[in-house]
Amino acid sequence: MQIFDCPFCGERDETEFHFVSEAGKVRPEPACQVSADTWAAYLHVKQNVKGAGREVWRHLSCGELFVMQRDTTSMVVIAVEPLRKSRP
Ligand SMILES: [Zn+2]
Repeated sequence: MQIFDCPFCGERDETEFHFVSEAGKVRPEPACQVSADTWAAYLHVKQNVKGAGREVWRHLSCGELFVMQRDTTSMVVIAVEPLRKSRP
């Protein structure tokens, strides 16, 4: 079991978090005009970086999204940063 650090709530059990996607993916625009293959690649193709990668996670308890930099081979969390700077 791992402990993840929500930038808004602090350390919590990993079961409170949900993986959203790799960070840095750019949505093809205009979405209604891109090909089905381009759209499928945007939704489903991942880089699956070996080593340090950036991922978007959601803390289910507070609902906030944040970026977690994590080593995918050791599962060690390197850094976390909020997607927005403060809560409303
Ligand atoms: Zn939180």
